[in-house]
Amino acid sequence: CVGVGKCRRHEHGTMCPSYMVTREEKHSTRGRARLLWEMLNSSTLRKNGWRDESVKDALDLCLACKGCKADCPMNVDMATYKAEFLSHYYKHRLRPIHAYAFGLIHLWAQLAQFSPRLVNFVNHAPVTSGLVKKLIGVAAQRSMPMFASENFKTWFRRNGRARPPGAPGKNGRVVLWPDTFNNFFHPETAKAAVEVLEDAGFHVVVPDVDLCCGRPLYDYGMLDTAKRWLAQILTALRSEIEAGTPVIGLEPSCAAVFRDELTEIFPQNEQAIRLSQQTFTLAEFLKKFAPEYEPPKLARQALLHGHCHHKAIMKLDCDTELLERLGLDFEVLDSGCCGMAGAFGFEKNHYDVSVACGERVLLPEVRRAAKDTLIIADGFSCREQIRQLTDRQALHTAQVLEMAVNEGPRGPSGNLPEQKYVAYESRV
Ligand code: SF4
Ligand code: SF4
Repeated sequence: CVGVGKCRRHEHGTMCPSYMVTREEKHSTRGRARLLWEMLNSSTLRKNGWRDESVKDALDLCLACKGCKADCPMNVDMATYKAEFLSHYYKHRLRPIHAYAFGLIHLWAQLAQFSPRLVNFVNHAPVTSGLVKKLIGVAAQRSMPMFASENFKTWFRRNGRARPPGAPGKNGRVVLWPDTFNNFFHPETAKAAVEVLEDAGFHVVVPDVDLCCGRPLYDYGMLDTAKRWLAQILTALRSEIEAGTPVIGLEPSCAAVFRDELTEIFPQNEQAIRLSQQTFTLAEFLKKFAPEYEPPKLARQALLHGHCHHKAIMKLDCDTELLERLGLDFEVLDSGCCGMAGAFGFEKNHYDVSVACGERVLLPEVRRAAKDTLIIADGFSCREQIRQLTDRQALHTAQVLEMAVNEGPRGPSGNLPEQKYVAYESRV
């Protein structure tokens, strides 16, 4: 950090959402960078080193949005520094319970598969939901995301999509990454992606083994576990990586793990470098591998909110190009961070900052939009923030394409066109 203070702007771009709402230096990228510098360089100012409470306090409101990595002229990467700091801070110490609840969500989601409806019931029944939220440190105002009654991978196997290895689609083979969020909570997104990719002539494969990129682990500094899970992925995907099969990440923060964290953790590993180069968002993939694919038209209005990691690491250019080719009349919101940022906005100590971030631009714009306007947001947490704090639900780009494939250029008639595509409330 050279101290020019671009991170102290009050509007536009993503950096720095916590400063934009608190207006306190210690919650800006620069404030945090300064404290970290003191910690590493001055044992007089910061006697406790990696256990320094003021550094931890300043990093606590960092949403790990990676806005600074893209917007700061020095590309200060506070999300990575935060993960590194927390990894040292909690070395040989127990973390707070919410870190295990959210950081290990992949494991809990697997356990919930024994009876997703029962888990949803417990998480939403008036008496038990309060207890669960209190136990794991979730804000009382939040509602817990609901598990789908059938996850995407089960649906994929059941529908005979799991074809023998090597079976070609006319345009080739692609790995659809079944991230924890779209697999267990929003399988309709991944199903839509399968429909669209098959419509574009690809043979979709989904890894058989149970894998997770570990995105939630970084927010809590659980770097040893994250490294182990990534190593498992490199082993499980070895043949696809070596064959050069493209991998599509539907959840932007998971695609960003493969594009960013993976090569930071394994900088010399050839497989890691290749996977990082072979990973694409859906829009990037269609542009690169199906340049001739003409998506069906969908002539209506839309608002696009880009996930922070998407904007910082992959950029939105391919997405806006795809939406233009669809014929949508859309606006890209200058909405910065939605405020949910993984589990950040679920935690009770972050609720107010989370809502304030969302209320800056995104939520008022969604509420102001005509009820037949499509709200597009690829990130799970962005969609949760919109669902929980407005009367609208956002669609993933894959679902917008599916809508065009299934319903023609006008899409569904009437208000709340997303309703048929999300079917979220019927899961208890
Ligand atoms: S963090 Fe980046 S934008 Fe902020 S003061 Fe430092 S160099 Fe400037
Ligand atoms: S990661 Fe986001 S919240 Fe954290 S310092 Fe950077 S811009 Fe601010």
